[in-house]
Parts: sequence; C-alpha cells; structure tokens
Amino acid sequence: SYKAEMKPRYYAVDIARMRAIMNGAVLVLGSATPQVSSYWRAKNGFSTLLNLPERISDAGMADVEVIDMRAEYARGNLSIFSERLTRELFYTIERGEQAMILLNRRGFSRTIVCRSCGWQMRCPFCDIALTSHRNPYRGEDKLPNRMVCHLCERLARVPKYCPECSSEEIMALGAGTQQVEEEIKKQLPHARILRMDLDTTRGRFSHKEILDAFERHEADVLVGTQMIAKGHDFHNVTLSAILSADQLLGSGEFRASEQAFQLMTQVAGRAGRGLKKGRVIIQAVQPDHFVVKAAAKQDYEAFYREEIVFRNRMAYLPFGHIGMAQLKGFDRYETEDVARAFQREVAALIDQYGGTFSHTILTDASPAPVERIRSRYRYRVMVRDESAENLTRLLFMAADRLKRPKGVSLAVDIDPWTTF
Ligand SMILES: [Zn+2]
Ligand SMILES: [Zn+2]
Repeated sequence: SYKAEMKPRYYAVDIARMRAIMNGAVLVLGSATPQVSSYWRAKNGFSTLLNLPERISDAGMADVEVIDMRAEYARGNLSIFSERLTRELFYTIERGEQAMILLNRRGFSRTIVCRSCGWQMRCPFCDIALTSHRNPYRGEDKLPNRMVCHLCERLARVPKYCPECSSEEIMALGAGTQQVEEEIKKQLPHARILRMDLDTTRGRFSHKEILDAFERHEADVLVGTQMIAKGHDFHNVTLSAILSADQLLGSGEFRASEQAFQLMTQVAGRAGRGLKKGRVIIQAVQPDHFVVKAAAKQDYEAFYREEIVFRNRMAYLPFGHIGMAQLKGFDRYETEDVARAFQREVAALIDQYGGTFSHTILTDASPAPVERIRSRYRYRVMVRDESAENLTRLLFMAADRLKRPKGVSLAVDIDPWTTF
C-alpha cells in the first residue's frame, strides 16, 4: 500500500498493475483490510477475488471492547482516558506486561464532536469531517473558532449548541502523543513511557531503535501514531488501545473511514499474538458508528457494504477522482500568487475544452489546512472529476502553461492519501 510522497507521486499498486499488463504477469494483492477501491474492482470483475475464510490462528483473536466516552463525560470524567482504560493500564503494568496506545495519523488535527450525543462536525457539501490545525504541538482546551474542509476549502464556525441534541457539550478532540504521555504520567506516575511520532523519530532515535527498546521491555507503555501498529509482534503486549476512534474518523480525509477501519483491525489483530491473551480497548463518542462496530468484530464485509454506498453517493474513489496541485514556497505572497495563477490556467483549460471537462469541479486556490511546514508556505488547488485520465491531463497541461518562479515548487497528486 505504498504511495510515493516525492515526485512522481505514484501509487505502487498502479505501477505493479501496469507492469503486470505489460509483461503478461499475474498481480496478486493481499490484505486483511483491502482498500475499498481494490475490493470494489474485485467484486466487479476487474480482478478475481480469492478468499481465505479461516484466520491463521483464532487463538490470537483479542477481546475488543468499545468504551462509550459519552457515558464517561456524563459521569464527570473529562479526561482522555476512560476509567476502564486507566484501570487496565494499571493492571497490565502490575503484571509486568506492556501496553500500546494509538493516536491518529499525525496526531495534530482536531475534530469537533458533541460529547453528549456523539455528533461530529462534517462538511455539508463533502460529508467529511471538518478539522482545525491551528496549534499543532500543544494540547489546547479552547474551542477553535473556525473549522475547514480539506476538500472544498469552505470554512465553518463551530456552533455553540449541538445541532443534533441542542446541548452545549461541544468539544474539540485532538490529543497529541505528548499530551497523552503527560496524562499517563499524571495517572500512573511509575509507568515507563516511550513515545513514537514524527517528532521523536526525526530526532535522536530512529523508528527501529524505539521499537527495539520497547521489545526489550525498557518501557511499559508505547504511545504513538499508526507507525506503531505496523511494528513487530510484541509478545509481551497484552493491551492495545485506540484512544479516540472519533479522532480517526475525523481526520478530514475522504478515506477517513477506511483508514480508521484498517488501523483498528490491525491493532485488534496484533494484540495477543504471543501466548498471553490480548485485550483491545476502543474509546469513542460514536460507539455505534458502523466503522467502530465493524472493526470491533473485524468484519470487513460489514464495513465495505456501508462505505461503498458513501463513496458512490459522494463520487469518491473508485467512483470519482481528486487531483491536488500543491504549491510551496518561502514567500507567502509569491506562493499564493502562483497558486492563483495555476487555478486560472486550469479554469481556462476547462473553458477551452468545454465538453471534456463539463463535470469537472474546480475549487479556488487556498492555503492548505497546515499552512506552513518547515518555513514553507503551502497553497493548493483541488480538482475533481469522474475520470482520473481527464484530471491528469488537465493538471499537467496547466502545469506546462504555468509561469512559475524558481522559489515556488509545484507537485500534482492524483487521489492523494493525505490532504492536510
Ligand atoms: Zn449532541
Ligand atoms: Zn467540503
């Protein structure tokens, strides 16, 4: 499932598929949690579906428990840890066993939920969760003023009252790994904690060093983003927790459900691979969300049945495609100007070739949800079309026509994996 983050932004499966066609070879894709678009292809005769109905070993199945965080809040526990999770953490460490706590992909986007009924703030046009990226490295209790949609760039005000249940219990979810570490230290001062995220792996310790240290039991708890889900088989890990399924579902990507399902089932499948029985805890204000329910049962079919309806209704992959042109530069105004110029080129091409692009949707040039990374400003232009070929042609023609100064870079990504 590799997607290149550097130019050219190819998706490994597409390249493999092309090479298989060119060489008359057979391509085998294997996954316990296939991408919705791959599974759709298999179901619709574009490839052959082969099932492995039996798990390798059912003894490894972990007990999955979904904790309704609405009930926690109602009881007055406003912490990011349910009482159950705190207790399980305590006993796991007492027994000399280890625990893993997972957060979403990057750990710094925030989503708005109602902690009384579980409503989540979504874009009315794109039906994906709205996010705010204002304060990446500090846990902030204050509500953000405005939320943004990753796809159509529309801004929305955070409501004072929940539109579903009229309560005032609107909250921003978005604990970072650091905040989680501090919270564990507060509750369990003796716990030895390791943290793995982009910050820690970019620094002194590599990905592997952290995982190795955890394997040698130099820490009781490993807190991290999804990177840790793909780690080794830790035979002493008997407790895994998804801190907030809502945060996974609220990543702001149209693939949020797929990514959340994959991560949750990976964790559930991984816990208890050793001889000891594993336990998985999933915390959510939406315990009845279809993704949470399907993941708890490790039921891919149930997940797929609902997700494909959503994709079809919204014309998301595999029923439609998204092209993202990203412009980056050290000078904010220059970068913004180039993004605007690029948008005008795309608009002109759509006009010029009217018929071909009559269903193409083009948004205005706008700053990315994370406006600046390592001193570079980021702007982008989003385009949607039913045909990936059309999109590719359109964006590359516009890129050719664009007069771009040296200081601004342009990257075109078809069906990007992240749009933050
Ligand atoms: Zn509500
Ligand atoms: Zn939208």
